[in-house]
Amino acid sequence: MATKYIFVTGGVVSSLGKGLASASIGCLLEGHGYKVAMMKCDPYLNVDPGTMSPYQHGEVYVTDDGAETDLDLGHYERFTSCVTSKASNITTGKIYGSVIAKERRGDYLGRTVQVIPHITDEIKASIRAVAASGGQEADVVIVEIGGTVGDIESLPFLEAVRQFRQDVGRDNAIFVHLALVPYIATAHELKTKPMQHSVRELRAIGIHPNILLCRTDRYLAPEIKAKLALFCDVPEEAVITAKDVDSIYDVPLVLSGEGLDGIVLKELGLDSRGREMAAWERLVHRIKNPKGEVTIGIVGKYVSFEDSYKSLNEALSHGGFANDVRVVRRWVESEELEAGNADRLLAGVDGILVPGGFGTRGTGGMVAAADFARRSGKPYFGICYGFQWAVTSWARHVCGLAGANSTEVDEQAEHKIVYKLQDLLGVEDMGGTMRLGSYECQLAPGSRAAQIYGSQTIHERHRHRFEFNREYEGCLNQGGMVITGKTPDGKFAEIAEVPGHPWYVAVQFHPEFKSKPLSPHPLFADFVRASLANRQGVTARASTGEVPVASS
Ligand code: GLN
Repeated sequence: MATKYIFVTGGVVSSLGKGLASASIGCLLEGHGYKVAMMKCDPYLNVDPGTMSPYQHGEVYVTDDGAETDLDLGHYERFTSCVTSKASNITTGKIYGSVIAKERRGDYLGRTVQVIPHITDEIKASIRAVAASGGQEADVVIVEIGGTVGDIESLPFLEAVRQFRQDVGRDNAIFVHLALVPYIATAHELKTKPMQHSVRELRAIGIHPNILLCRTDRYLAPEIKAKLALFCDVPEEAVITAKDVDSIYDVPLVLSGEGLDGIVLKELGLDSRGREMAAWERLVHRIKNPKGEVTIGIVGKYVSFEDSYKSLNEALSHGGFANDVRVVRRWVESEELEAGNADRLLAGVDGILVPGGFGTRGTGGMVAAADFARRSGKPYFGICYGFQWAVTSWARHVCGLAGANSTEVDEQAEHKIVYKLQDLLGVEDMGGTMRLGSYECQLAPGSRAAQIYGSQTIHERHRHRFEFNREYEGCLNQGGMVITGKTPDGKFAEIAEVPGHPWYVAVQFHPEFKSKPLSPHPLFADFVRASLANRQGVTARASTGEVPVASS
């Protein structure tokens, strides 16, 4: 069977959930028995989002092979079984970079290098490369085009995919267009004009959408669908309501309820190999019927913009699914803990999580959060920066090394307990130079980590420029903190635990990137379990009149 391609474009405004819609199409196609590969084209000039602020771009998602990519790739991996890689995210910067490198090498000798055909050819070659990137040829490749139709930047990508359809044959590629159909409260009406205009824009550049996904807060009445079908020249059954939902994991089922999978298969000339969505349906049922809740305090630097912690947020939800509880997040700006407020601001949470981060601002609050968890016995989960500040906090507060610090914050620190990766000494370039991607880690037998993972060898994804200085390991041990995860060569410390504490686990890697709703990451599942136990313990003690006391 020839590989089939689905191109997903967006119109009117951004942030309509094109990534989720693409991931949901992938999820449904897998449910129908097809192997799916997924890709995102980003029209910005950065080679990758690695150097962008989380406020600009949201989370940087890291793949197994160490690519720093758009957060939509996280949705792809959470909703499907595809494994994304360096091949799964291209940007204008990356495409131009390789065309210019080829020009310098002399590959185009004699010719003028132009957007069409050289840039568009490069884009098309990247799309073709994704089909085979998972080791096994995909049946269907879903390509999301970032930005909205009408942007200057996305034009070369749209031109490339227009040509692509000609190249692979019209039956082997379809276009799905997602745009806003707003409800105007004062007129009591859903408005189709923005969608009509964005489809006209698409058609002006030669792309005729096969399917319209109408993002709206209510189901479209048949006459609205008929109107859109007429004006946008698609069959009525191809006008799909993409209604707002409470849980993102409901999106595939809601879209399927609107007949999206049926029309996608039909437009691609594919037969269903038997629809299998039972596990997903059970999952959504569990999500909608939690048996309790747990409150997690997330102490970070970018908490005012939740997209900065996309995968973390999802992995926490997955931890909740594993325990049949709803996870309530209390976002705490780490800077606010710096004035000695940690005990007060974190008193009501059941567990504390300090996620990844960069730079100086707010790090004192991360130290305070880790120390409060130590004293109060509340579960502590440190991830990357949360690991580095946990070891620093332990060194300062338990081992008596008041001058312990990370050289990311103070290059002259008396005790450089976290310092620049020794492999990176002398490397000043910022783009793509961190320790990135999946590395093996060996767990100490009998450790909490080994118990949680149920195995001695694990592989987790990394993104950091600094590391724990192993010279301080003995000192931490004396204070009751042990390193229970190391790379096989013993070079990098990957996990720190406190055996005498109810739950204190800090990891240098990012487990959130590998958590999926149908297979919650064991660390998140166990952290939520421990936080729940902490909550119940506190509740039990409170109801017997015993007041929980912080131990020092
Ligand atoms: N800033 C730290 C480092 O570069 C932690 C990075 C992170 O949390 N992703 O090592």
